[in-house]
Amino acid sequence: MAEFETIVVVGAGVVGLSTVLCIQQYLKPSQSVLLVARDFPSDTSVNYASPWAGAHYRPVPGSSPTSAPLAVNEPAAGIIFLKGVEHLEAPPPEYLDSQSAHNVYSHLDEFRYLSDDEVPAGVKWGVEYGTYVVNSPVYCAHMLRKFILKGGTTKRYTLAHLKEAFSLDTNVKTVINCSGLGFDDPKSFIIRGQTCLVRNPVSATITRQNTDGSWSFCIPRPLDGGTIIGGTKQPHNWDPNASPETRAQLLAKASKWFPFASESGGQFDVIHDIVGRRPAREGGMRIEVEKLENEKQIVHAYGAGGRGFELSHGVAEDTVALMLENGLLKEKAVL
Ligand SMILES: Cc1cc2nc3c(=O)[nH]c(=O)nc-3n(C[C@H](O)[C@H](O)[C@H](O)COP(=O)(O)OP(=O)(O)OC[C@H]3O[C@@H](n4cnc5c(N)ncnc54)[C@H](O)[C@@H]3O)c2cc1C
Repeated sequence: MAEFETIVVVGAGVVGLSTVLCIQQYLKPSQSVLLVARDFPSDTSVNYASPWAGAHYRPVPGSSPTSAPLAVNEPAAGIIFLKGVEHLEAPPPEYLDSQSAHNVYSHLDEFRYLSDDEVPAGVKWGVEYGTYVVNSPVYCAHMLRKFILKGGTTKRYTLAHLKEAFSLDTNVKTVINCSGLGFDDPKSFIIRGQTCLVRNPVSATITRQNTDGSWSFCIPRPLDGGTIIGGTKQPHNWDPNASPETRAQLLAKASKWFPFASESGGQFDVIHDIVGRRPAREGGMRIEVEKLENEKQIVHAYGAGGRGFELSHGVAEDTVALMLENGLLKEKAVL
Protein backbone atom coordinates (compact mmCIF):
# COMPACT_ATOMS: atom_id res chain seq x y z
CA MET A 1 0.00 0.00 0.00
CA ALA A 2 1.25 3.49 -0.87
CA GLU A 3 2.61 5.56 2.00
CA PHE A 4 0.23 8.34 3.03
CA GLU A 5 1.51 11.76 1.95
CA THR A 6 0.51 15.36 2.68
CA ILE A 7 1.02 18.06 0.06
CA VAL A 8 1.53 21.42 1.77
CA VAL A 9 0.41 24.56 -0.05
CA VAL A 10 1.74 27.78 1.50
CA GLY A 11 -0.51 30.81 1.00
CA ALA A 12 -4.28 31.32 1.10
CA GLY A 13 -4.51 34.20 -1.35
CA VAL A 14 -6.26 33.87 -4.69
CA VAL A 15 -3.27 31.97 -6.14
CA GLY A 16 -3.00 29.44 -3.28
CA LEU A 17 -6.77 28.90 -3.12
CA SER A 18 -7.08 28.39 -6.89
CA THR A 19 -4.13 26.01 -6.73
CA VAL A 20 -5.47 23.81 -3.91
CA LEU A 21 -8.80 23.41 -5.73
CA CYS A 22 -7.01 22.40 -8.91
CA ILE A 23 -4.70 19.97 -7.05
CA GLN A 24 -7.69 18.28 -5.37
CA GLN A 25 -8.89 17.12 -8.80
CA TYR A 26 -5.72 15.07 -9.29
CA LEU A 27 -5.03 13.62 -5.82
CA LYS A 28 -3.96 9.99 -5.46
CA PRO A 29 -5.97 8.09 -2.80
CA SER A 30 -2.87 8.21 -0.58
CA GLN A 31 -2.56 12.01 -0.76
CA SER A 32 -4.16 14.95 1.06
CA VAL A 33 -3.67 18.72 0.96
CA LEU A 34 -2.82 20.98 3.90
CA LEU A 35 -3.19 24.72 3.28
CA VAL A 36 -0.81 26.69 5.51
CA ALA A 37 -0.94 30.48 5.78
CA ARG A 38 -0.37 33.50 7.95
CA ASP A 39 -3.58 35.09 6.57
CA PHE A 40 -6.87 33.49 5.53
CA PRO A 41 -9.87 35.07 3.73
CA SER A 42 -11.45 36.39 6.92
CA ASP A 43 -8.26 38.41 7.67
CA THR A 44 -7.25 41.86 6.52
CA SER A 45 -3.59 42.84 6.42
CA VAL A 46 -1.72 45.25 4.19
CA ASN A 47 0.59 42.33 3.31
CA TYR A 48 -2.28 40.06 2.20
CA ALA A 49 -3.12 41.36 -1.27
CA SER A 50 -6.14 39.28 -2.26
CA PRO A 51 -8.96 40.87 -0.21
CA TRP A 52 -8.03 44.31 -1.56
CA ALA A 53 -8.20 43.65 -5.28
CA GLY A 54 -10.86 45.42 -7.40
CA ALA A 55 -11.07 43.12 -9.21
CA HIS A 56 -11.96 43.22 -12.88
CA TYR A 57 -10.75 41.73 -16.13
CA ARG A 58 -9.01 44.05 -18.59
CA PRO A 59 -7.50 42.32 -21.58
CA VAL A 60 -3.80 41.75 -22.16
CA PRO A 61 -2.34 39.82 -25.10
CA GLY A 62 -2.64 36.07 -24.71
CA SER A 63 -5.02 36.00 -21.76
CA SER A 64 -8.67 35.10 -21.58
CA PRO A 65 -11.43 35.45 -19.00
CA THR A 66 -11.09 32.03 -17.39
CA SER A 67 -13.37 32.67 -14.39
CA ALA A 68 -16.36 32.85 -16.68
CA PRO A 69 -17.88 29.39 -16.00
CA LEU A 70 -17.89 30.04 -12.25
CA ALA A 71 -19.98 33.18 -12.72
CA VAL A 72 -22.65 31.16 -14.46
CA ASN A 73 -22.54 27.97 -12.40
CA GLU A 74 -21.84 29.31 -8.91
CA PRO A 75 -23.63 32.60 -8.18
CA ALA A 76 -22.25 32.55 -4.61
CA ALA A 77 -18.70 32.88 -5.96
CA GLY A 78 -19.12 36.65 -6.19
CA ILE A 79 -18.43 37.01 -9.94
CA ILE A 80 -20.70 38.73 -12.45
CA PHE A 81 -20.58 39.70 -16.10
CA LEU A 82 -21.15 43.30 -17.04
CA LYS A 83 -20.02 46.01 -19.43
CA GLY A 84 -16.39 47.13 -19.38
CA VAL A 85 -15.51 50.54 -20.78
CA GLU A 86 -12.08 52.07 -21.45
CA HIS A 87 -11.44 55.76 -22.05
CA LEU A 88 -7.89 56.83 -22.90
CA GLU A 89 -6.84 60.47 -23.09
CA ALA A 90 -3.35 59.80 -24.48
CA PRO A 91 -3.42 56.33 -26.05
CA PRO A 92 0.04 54.75 -26.47
CA PRO A 93 0.98 53.63 -30.04
CA GLU A 94 0.01 49.98 -29.42
CA TYR A 95 -3.60 51.04 -28.83
CA LEU A 96 -3.69 53.08 -32.05
CA ASP A 97 -2.27 50.20 -34.11
CA SER A 98 -5.48 48.47 -35.21
CA GLN A 99 -3.87 45.01 -35.60
CA SER A 100 -2.35 45.15 -32.14
CA ALA A 101 -5.63 46.30 -30.58
CA HIS A 102 -7.51 43.60 -32.50
CA ASN A 103 -5.16 40.90 -31.15
CA VAL A 104 -5.78 42.05 -27.61
CA TYR A 105 -9.50 42.80 -27.59
CA SER A 106 -11.23 40.81 -30.32
CA HIS A 107 -11.74 37.66 -28.19
CA LEU A 108 -14.05 39.63 -25.91
CA ASP A 109 -17.82 39.37 -26.23
CA GLU A 110 -19.53 42.44 -27.61
CA PHE A 111 -16.27 44.26 -28.21
CA ARG A 112 -16.58 47.50 -30.17
CA TYR A 113 -14.82 50.83 -30.63
CA LEU A 114 -16.66 53.86 -29.31
CA SER A 115 -17.21 56.69 -31.78
CA ASP A 116 -16.07 60.26 -31.05
CA ASP A 117 -19.56 61.33 -30.04
CA GLU A 118 -19.88 58.42 -27.57
CA VAL A 119 -16.81 59.31 -25.49
CA PRO A 120 -16.46 62.16 -22.97
CA ALA A 121 -14.52 65.31 -23.87
CA GLY A 122 -10.75 64.80 -23.81
CA VAL A 123 -10.92 61.07 -24.58
CA LYS A 124 -9.04 60.10 -27.77
CA TRP A 125 -9.67 56.35 -27.76
CA GLY A 126 -12.56 54.38 -26.30
CA VAL A 127 -13.80 50.79 -26.38
CA GLU A 128 -16.41 48.68 -24.64
CA TYR A 129 -16.80 44.93 -24.20
CA GLY A 130 -18.35 42.28 -21.99
CA THR A 131 -16.18 41.54 -18.98
CA TYR A 132 -16.45 40.21 -15.45
CA VAL A 133 -15.86 41.64 -12.01
CA VAL A 134 -15.09 39.80 -8.79
CA ASN A 135 -15.95 40.58 -5.18
CA SER A 136 -12.49 39.47 -4.10
CA PRO A 137 -13.05 38.69 -0.37
CA VAL A 138 -16.28 36.81 -1.17
CA TYR A 139 -14.59 34.88 -3.97
CA CYS A 140 -11.64 33.86 -1.75
CA ALA A 141 -13.97 32.76 1.09
CA HIS A 142 -16.00 30.77 -1.46
CA MET A 143 -12.89 28.94 -2.66
CA LEU A 144 -11.76 28.19 0.90
CA ARG A 145 -15.18 26.68 1.65
CA LYS A 146 -15.01 24.50 -1.49
CA PHE A 147 -11.54 23.30 -0.49
CA ILE A 148 -12.74 22.30 3.00
CA LEU A 149 -15.86 20.58 1.63
CA LYS A 150 -13.61 18.46 -0.60
CA GLY A 151 -11.57 17.26 2.38
CA GLY A 152 -8.81 19.90 2.54
CA THR A 153 -7.37 20.97 5.89
CA THR A 154 -5.87 24.28 7.02
CA LYS A 155 -3.28 25.48 9.50
CA ARG A 156 -2.60 29.08 10.50
CA TYR A 157 1.16 29.36 10.75
CA THR A 158 3.81 31.95 9.84
CA LEU A 159 6.81 30.26 8.27
CA ALA A 160 10.22 31.75 9.01
CA HIS A 161 11.66 29.70 6.12
CA LEU A 162 9.88 27.84 3.33
CA LYS A 163 11.61 24.56 4.25
CA GLU A 164 9.74 24.61 7.58
CA ALA A 165 6.69 23.54 5.56
CA PHE A 166 8.18 20.03 5.17
CA SER A 167 7.89 19.58 8.96
CA LEU A 168 4.24 20.60 9.32
CA ASP A 169 2.89 17.08 8.86
CA THR A 170 4.23 13.55 9.13
CA ASN A 171 5.14 12.84 5.50
CA VAL A 172 5.54 15.96 3.35
CA LYS A 173 7.50 15.55 0.12
CA THR A 174 5.91 18.37 -1.89
CA VAL A 175 5.49 22.01 -0.93
CA ILE A 176 3.76 24.55 -3.18
CA ASN A 177 4.89 28.12 -2.62
CA CYS A 178 1.97 30.52 -3.23
CA SER A 179 3.22 33.08 -0.73
CA GLY A 180 2.79 36.16 -2.93
CA LEU A 181 6.26 37.65 -2.48
CA GLY A 182 8.19 34.40 -1.99
CA PHE A 183 10.86 33.94 0.65
CA ASP A 184 13.87 36.28 0.41
CA ASP A 185 13.65 36.44 -3.39
CA PRO A 186 15.75 39.49 -4.39
CA LYS A 187 13.57 39.91 -7.50
CA SER A 188 10.37 40.36 -5.47
CA PHE A 189 9.05 43.83 -4.71
CA ILE A 190 5.79 45.46 -3.70
CA ILE A 191 3.55 47.82 -5.64
CA ARG A 192 1.43 49.83 -3.21
CA GLY A 193 -2.17 50.40 -4.22
CA GLN A 194 -4.59 52.84 -2.60
CA THR A 195 -8.27 52.67 -3.51
CA CYS A 196 -11.52 53.63 -1.81
CA LEU A 197 -14.57 51.42 -1.28
CA VAL A 198 -17.84 53.38 -1.51
CA ARG A 199 -21.51 52.42 -1.27
CA ASN A 200 -22.52 54.33 -4.44
CA PRO A 201 -23.53 51.81 -7.10
CA VAL A 202 -22.37 51.90 -10.72
CA SER A 203 -23.48 49.61 -13.53
CA ALA A 204 -20.26 49.18 -15.54
CA THR A 205 -16.55 48.96 -14.87
CA ILE A 206 -14.85 52.00 -16.38
CA THR A 207 -11.12 52.56 -16.74
CA ARG A 208 -9.80 55.97 -17.70
CA GLN A 209 -6.23 56.83 -18.59
CA ASN A 210 -5.45 60.45 -17.76
CA THR A 211 -2.95 62.66 -19.59
CA ASP A 212 -0.89 63.02 -16.40
CA GLY A 213 -0.14 59.27 -16.64
CA SER A 214 -2.50 58.26 -13.81
CA TRP A 215 -5.35 55.79 -14.24
CA SER A 216 -8.82 56.07 -12.71
CA PHE A 217 -11.28 53.24 -12.43
CA CYS A 218 -14.55 52.21 -10.86
CA ILE A 219 -15.30 48.55 -10.26
CA PRO A 220 -18.64 47.45 -8.80
CA ARG A 221 -18.32 44.54 -6.36
CA PRO A 222 -20.96 41.83 -6.94
CA LEU A 223 -23.41 40.76 -4.20
CA ASP A 224 -23.83 44.34 -2.97
CA GLY A 225 -20.18 44.76 -2.01
CA GLY A 226 -20.04 48.46 -2.96
CA THR A 227 -17.83 50.02 -5.64
CA ILE A 228 -14.05 50.26 -5.70
CA ILE A 229 -12.71 53.65 -6.81
CA GLY A 230 -9.09 53.54 -7.84
CA GLY A 231 -6.33 53.79 -7.79
CA THR A 232 -2.60 54.15 -7.34
CA LYS A 233 0.30 51.93 -8.41
CA GLN A 234 3.40 52.84 -6.39
CA PRO A 235 6.35 50.45 -6.70
CA HIS A 236 8.55 50.12 -3.58
CA ASN A 237 6.28 52.41 -1.53
CA TRP A 238 5.93 50.91 1.96
CA ASP A 239 3.51 53.45 3.45
CA PRO A 240 0.81 51.34 5.17
CA ASN A 241 -1.47 54.34 5.82
CA ALA A 242 -4.17 55.65 3.51
CA SER A 243 -3.43 59.19 2.34
CA PRO A 244 -6.45 61.53 2.74
CA GLU A 245 -5.14 63.62 -0.17
CA THR A 246 -5.05 60.58 -2.43
CA ARG A 247 -8.59 59.65 -1.39
CA ALA A 248 -9.79 63.18 -2.22
CA GLN A 249 -8.10 63.05 -5.65
CA LEU A 250 -9.52 59.61 -6.49
CA LEU A 251 -13.05 60.62 -5.53
CA ALA A 252 -12.85 63.99 -7.31
CA LYS A 253 -11.87 62.31 -10.58
CA ALA A 254 -14.50 59.61 -10.10
CA SER A 255 -17.32 62.10 -9.61
CA LYS A 256 -16.22 63.95 -12.76
CA TRP A 257 -15.85 60.96 -15.05
CA PHE A 258 -17.95 58.04 -13.88
CA PRO A 259 -21.74 57.74 -14.17
CA PHE A 260 -22.78 57.66 -10.55
CA ALA A 261 -26.48 58.35 -10.05
CA SER A 262 -27.24 62.09 -10.24
CA GLU A 263 -29.03 61.99 -6.87
CA SER A 264 -25.64 61.39 -5.22
CA GLY A 265 -24.79 64.99 -6.19
CA GLY A 266 -21.13 64.07 -6.60
CA GLN A 267 -21.00 62.94 -2.95
CA PHE A 268 -19.59 59.58 -1.97
CA ASP A 269 -20.72 57.35 0.86
CA VAL A 270 -17.32 55.99 1.84
CA ILE A 271 -17.11 52.54 3.45
CA HIS A 272 -13.33 52.60 3.94
CA ASP A 273 -9.99 53.34 2.33
CA ILE A 274 -7.90 50.46 1.05
CA VAL A 275 -4.13 50.16 1.07
CA GLY A 276 -2.61 46.93 -0.20
CA ARG A 277 0.72 45.66 -1.53
CA ARG A 278 0.70 43.88 -4.86
CA PRO A 279 3.28 41.08 -4.76
CA ALA A 280 5.33 41.82 -7.88
CA ARG A 281 8.51 40.30 -9.25
CA GLU A 282 11.08 41.56 -11.74
CA GLY A 283 10.77 39.42 -14.88
CA GLY A 284 7.28 38.21 -13.90
CA MET A 285 5.90 35.33 -11.90
CA ARG A 286 8.07 32.46 -10.75
CA ILE A 287 6.43 29.18 -11.70
CA GLU A 288 8.98 26.39 -11.47
CA VAL A 289 10.00 23.22 -9.69
CA GLU A 290 12.94 23.22 -7.28
CA LYS A 291 14.28 19.75 -6.46
CA LEU A 292 15.76 19.24 -2.99
CA GLU A 293 17.54 16.35 -1.29
CA ASN A 294 15.60 13.16 -0.24
CA GLU A 295 13.16 13.40 -3.19
CA LYS A 296 11.59 16.54 -1.77
CA GLN A 297 10.31 19.17 -4.20
CA ILE A 298 9.05 22.72 -4.05
CA VAL A 299 6.81 24.12 -6.78
CA HIS A 300 6.97 27.91 -6.78
CA ALA A 301 3.96 29.98 -7.90
CA TYR A 302 4.31 33.57 -6.72
CA GLY A 303 4.83 37.14 -7.89
CA ALA A 304 1.49 37.83 -9.63
CA GLY A 305 1.80 41.60 -9.12
CA GLY A 306 -1.37 43.48 -10.11
CA ARG A 307 -3.05 40.64 -12.00
CA GLY A 308 -3.40 37.80 -9.49
CA PHE A 309 -7.14 37.40 -9.98
CA GLU A 310 -6.92 37.47 -13.75
CA LEU A 311 -4.04 34.97 -13.82
CA SER A 312 -5.05 32.71 -10.94
CA HIS A 313 -6.73 29.90 -12.92
CA GLY A 314 -3.90 29.74 -15.43
CA VAL A 315 -1.29 29.73 -12.67
CA ALA A 316 -3.10 26.91 -10.83
CA GLU A 317 -3.28 24.89 -14.06
CA ASP A 318 0.42 25.49 -14.83
CA THR A 319 1.37 24.49 -11.30
CA VAL A 320 -0.61 21.26 -11.53
CA ALA A 321 0.89 20.56 -14.97
CA LEU A 322 4.37 20.82 -13.42
CA MET A 323 3.31 18.50 -10.60
CA LEU A 324 1.97 15.96 -13.11
CA GLU A 325 5.18 16.14 -15.16
CA ASN A 326 7.13 15.34 -12.02
CA GLY A 327 4.87 12.46 -10.96
CA LEU A 328 3.56 14.32 -7.91
CA LEU A 329 -0.15 13.74 -8.69
CA LYS A 330 -2.43 11.22 -10.39
CA GLU A 331 -2.64 11.64 -14.15
CA LYS A 332 -6.40 11.57 -14.53
CA ALA A 333 -8.50 14.30 -12.93
CA VAL A 334 -11.15 13.21 -10.43
CA LEU A 335 -14.03 15.43 -11.57
C1 LIG B 1 -5.43 47.89 -4.46
C2 LIG B 1 -5.27 46.63 -5.30
C3 LIG B 1 -6.04 46.44 -6.42
C4 LIG B 1 -5.89 45.28 -7.21
N1 LIG B 1 -6.70 45.07 -8.30
C5 LIG B 1 -6.59 43.92 -9.02
C6 LIG B 1 -7.43 43.66 -10.15
O1 LIG B 1 -8.30 44.44 -10.52
N2 LIG B 1 -7.25 42.50 -10.83
C7 LIG B 1 -6.32 41.58 -10.45
O2 LIG B 1 -6.20 40.54 -11.09
N3 LIG B 1 -5.50 41.80 -9.40
C8 LIG B 1 -5.61 42.95 -8.69
N4 LIG B 1 -4.76 43.18 -7.63
C9 LIG B 1 -3.64 42.27 -7.40
C10 LIG B 1 -4.06 41.02 -6.64
O3 LIG B 1 -4.66 41.41 -5.41
C11 LIG B 1 -2.81 40.17 -6.38
O4 LIG B 1 -2.15 39.89 -7.61
C12 LIG B 1 -3.20 38.83 -5.75
O5 LIG B 1 -4.03 39.03 -4.64
C13 LIG B 1 -1.96 38.04 -5.36
O6 LIG B 1 -2.42 36.84 -4.78
P1 LIG B 1 -1.42 35.85 -4.05
O7 LIG B 1 -2.24 34.70 -3.63
O8 LIG B 1 -0.21 35.62 -4.88
O9 LIG B 1 -0.89 36.71 -2.79
P2 LIG B 1 -1.62 37.15 -1.44
O10 LIG B 1 -3.06 37.41 -1.64
O11 LIG B 1 -0.80 38.27 -0.87
O12 LIG B 1 -1.51 35.88 -0.51
C14 LIG B 1 -0.27 35.44 0.00
C15 LIG B 1 -0.54 34.33 0.99
O13 LIG B 1 0.72 33.83 1.46
C16 LIG B 1 0.72 33.84 2.88
N5 LIG B 1 2.09 34.01 3.37
C17 LIG B 1 3.02 34.89 2.96
N6 LIG B 1 4.15 34.76 3.66
C18 LIG B 1 3.93 33.75 4.57
C19 LIG B 1 4.71 33.12 5.57
N7 LIG B 1 5.96 33.51 5.84
N8 LIG B 1 4.16 32.12 6.30
C20 LIG B 1 2.88 31.71 6.06
N9 LIG B 1 2.09 32.27 5.10
C21 LIG B 1 2.62 33.27 4.37
C22 LIG B 1 -0.16 35.00 3.26
O14 LIG B 1 -0.60 34.91 4.60
C23 LIG B 1 -1.30 34.81 2.25
O15 LIG B 1 -2.19 33.82 2.72
C24 LIG B 1 -4.91 44.32 -6.83
C25 LIG B 1 -4.15 44.51 -5.68
C26 LIG B 1 -4.31 45.66 -4.91
C27 LIG B 1 -3.46 45.83 -3.66
